[in-house]
This record gives sequence, C-alpha cells and structure tokens, in this order.
Amino acid sequence: MRDVAEYDVAIVGGGPAGSSTALHLVRREGIRPARVVVLDKARFPRDKPCAGAVSQLGLDVLSALGVAVTVPSVAMKGARVLQGDAVGETVGPMGVVIRRTEFDAELLETARRDGVDVRDGEGLRAIRRSDGARAGFTLETTLGRAIRARFVAAADGAGSTTRKLLGIREPDRKGHLYVLDTARLDTDAGIARGLVDFDLSVVEDGLEGYYWDFPTMLDGGVQVSRGIYHANLTRPDAPSGDSVKDVLGRALARRGIDIAEVKLRPFSTRPFVPRSTGWVKGVVLVGEAYGIDQTTGEGIAQAIEMGRMAATHLARALSSGSPRFEAYERDVRASTTGRHLLQSAWMARRVYGPIGRPARRFLLRSELARSAAIRWYRGESLSTATQLRLGLGLAASLFA
Ligand SMILES: Cc1cc2nc3c(=O)[nH]c(=O)nc-3n(C[C@H](O)[C@H](O)[C@H](O)COP(=O)(O)OP(=O)(O)OC[C@H]3O[C@@H](n4cnc5c(N)ncnc54)[C@H](O)[C@@H]3O)c2cc1C
Repeated sequence: MRDVAEYDVAIVGGGPAGSSTALHLVRREGIRPARVVVLDKARFPRDKPCAGAVSQLGLDVLSALGVAVTVPSVAMKGARVLQGDAVGETVGPMGVVIRRTEFDAELLETARRDGVDVRDGEGLRAIRRSDGARAGFTLETTLGRAIRARFVAAADGAGSTTRKLLGIREPDRKGHLYVLDTARLDTDAGIARGLVDFDLSVVEDGLEGYYWDFPTMLDGGVQVSRGIYHANLTRPDAPSGDSVKDVLGRALARRGIDIAEVKLRPFSTRPFVPRSTGWVKGVVLVGEAYGIDQTTGEGIAQAIEMGRMAATHLARALSSGSPRFEAYERDVRASTTGRHLLQSAWMARRVYGPIGRPARRFLLRSELARSAAIRWYRGESLSTATQLRLGLGLAASLFA
C-alpha cells in the first residue's frame, strides 16, 4: 500500500448510523469535516431492502441537527393489530415510511456536502490497531488504499466486517426477515389511510414475530411493503429459513398473493440484547453493528440516535486521548433508544414467546395498549400511571 491518508475518525458504513455519526461530529461536536472519513463498500444510492418505517424519534434527532428529510415519504398515521379476522386500530402519528435507497443516499450526501470525506464504493478489508505514541488504527480498503485514524466507528450493519475483523462476539441468535413490495390490493384496508399493519396471526403459525403491511412510496404512488419478522428467540422448534418462508406464504395467501409470484429477499438482523457490547478499545459500535430492536426488528431511528451519542464520545476521546468508551455504552443504555432496546429485548419474549397470548390479546383489544405502544414507538416515555394501567390491563387479559 502506498499513500496513507490520516483522519481523526474513520466511520465504516454509510447507512443511517454512519451518516448520523459523521453529521453529529461535524455539526454538533465541531470536528473539522476533513478529519472524518466515511467508508462504504457500496456505491450510493445503494439498494437497501427494508420496510423503511422511521420512528419520529429518529426524525426529531435529525431535525435538531438541521437535517430535513426531503425524499418521498408516507406519514404513518396509526397502526392496526391483526389476528385472524379480528382488528384493533389506533390512530396517532408514528413517523414516516421512506425508501431506504433514497433516504440513506440523502443523509450521506448531506455529510459529503458538509465536507466529510465520503468514500462510497470503498469498503473495509483489514484493520490493524497500533499502540504507543501513534495509537490508532490502520484500515486497508477494498481499493487497496490505507487510512490511518485515531478512532473508528463501526457502523457497518448486520454483517459488520469491523466486528468480524476485531473478533467481537456475536449474540447467540439472530432475527430473520423477508421483505417484498407489491401494488395495493382491495384487502389493504389500512394502507390508503396511512396505517401500518402488524399481523400477529403468524405467531399461532409457530413464528416469533409478526407479518407487516406498510404503505410505501414507489414509482410515484403509494404501494405496499410486506414482509415477515421472526425474532428467533429461544424455542428450539421455532421455524427458521424455509419454514419462515412457509409462514410468510400462508400470510400472503390470506391476502390473495401467491408467494411463487413475488420476489422475496431474506435477511438476518443482529438484536440488541442486555449483553450486547458497545465498544472495544478505540472503537464504538453504532446502529445495527451494535444491535436493533428485538420486538419490532427495526433500527433506523435507533441508529440515528446512537450516531449522536457516538459522536459525543468520539469527540471526547479525541480531546482526552482515551480509547475507552464505557461512558458511551452507559449513555446509550440510559438514552431513549437504549431503554427502548432493552425493554424491547425483554418484551419480545413476553409477546411472541410461549407465554405471549395474553399480551397479544391485550394489544388486539385495548386502545390503551395500542396508543401506549404508538407513543413508545415514537420515542415517548410512558408515565408511571400509564405503566400501572398497562400492568392492570395485561393482568386482566390473563383471565379474559
Ligand atoms: C427486511 C428488513 C426490513 C426492515 N424494516 C425496518 C423498518 O421498517 N424500520 C426500521 O427502523 N428498521 C428496519 N429494518 C432494520 C434496518 O434496516 C436497520 O436497523 C438499519 O439499516 C440499521 O442502520 P445502520 O446504519 O446501522 O446499518 P445499514 O443501514 O445496514 O448500513 C450499513 C452500511 O455498511 C456498509 N458496509 C457493510 N460492510 C462494509 C464494509 N466492509 N466496509 C464498508 N462499508 C460496509 C453497507 O454497505 C451499508 O451501507 C429492517 C431490516 C430488514 C432486513
């Protein structure tokens, strides 16, 4: 390798986590943009299969930074919980549904316009840590170039190369998803009104998760993002791979869609669980490289808020020289996102696991439960009184 470019921070991954970290470093922490590099192995706009639901929490963090989302979007005006023929509906703002290809490209372009050295189409291939007077990292890229950085933010998502290269332990189990887009059908009663559907019938089919129908802007009109999320919690007999696809096939058939006729895309997700690690010496993990919401399988807003905290702690590390990021991990866990992620890891078992029937019944039948879920989703903390009422309602549904 020949030239070695020098930076304060190298961010690996230009998704929402990477862009948010870069933008916060520059706009909030006052780090010189030319001292920050973002590497992404994909060239943007890149394809990112995703349902694209962004909680209001993420939009608020961007807006506080002066970043407006201008790509086409559909407002999420509320949610429906489905089980068999039963429907529970609650109206309340939740955020927006965007197309990831456009959204991620817009965020990364904003960082580039701010002066950050954005190198898309150039991935991380190898990383070497050095100690002593020139402590930091040498990163070798897929274009055979070398970069030196004092600190690294690993924002390279579910398959995080940085984690692999640094030997960071993975959670025991990963979630599984399938996603597809279709035109709107007569059966999509909620879509036209901007409602997002969570169909819990699939749990009775043996799945630990939900089937979704979300409105999405495609080809200039509102179409439907559909898919299935399997949290893959603990059950040894829980479906995986092809059997998740079988459950999806039955959910689609109930909507009159033949699974053989659609283009499916399978994915794995890394859940945020209580034992998740947020850093190793000189490196912070951000976004899905750290972990995402185990109940919803979502992580865009979480990645954006984590980027804010990562930037704060990277900036502190730059002035103190300390490569330790315990305080970052503590801050993440204490933040709205961190509390949600931990609550969500706890909740997933109580909703989808063998003891989940009363909780699912409660969500289906109770306006209180759904409106609390919507407020929680968009990043609000629930008052003690609300939590108490939820506890009482759930207890009552044990005997319903
Ligand atoms: C099917 C599906 C549906 C989903 N639906 C939703 C949803 O509706 N709402 C929601 O909030 N979340 C959803 N998620 C989760 C969401 O996609 C992730 O939480 C989100 O993408 C995390 O953002 P990130 O920036 O951490 O990672 P990513 O967006 O995955 O970005 C990581 C980036 O790192 C790059 N990269 C990877 N390896 C390297 C390398 N070696 N060198 C350089 N760059 C590299 C990748 O090219 C990528 O651009 C869904 C996920 C799936 C799979």
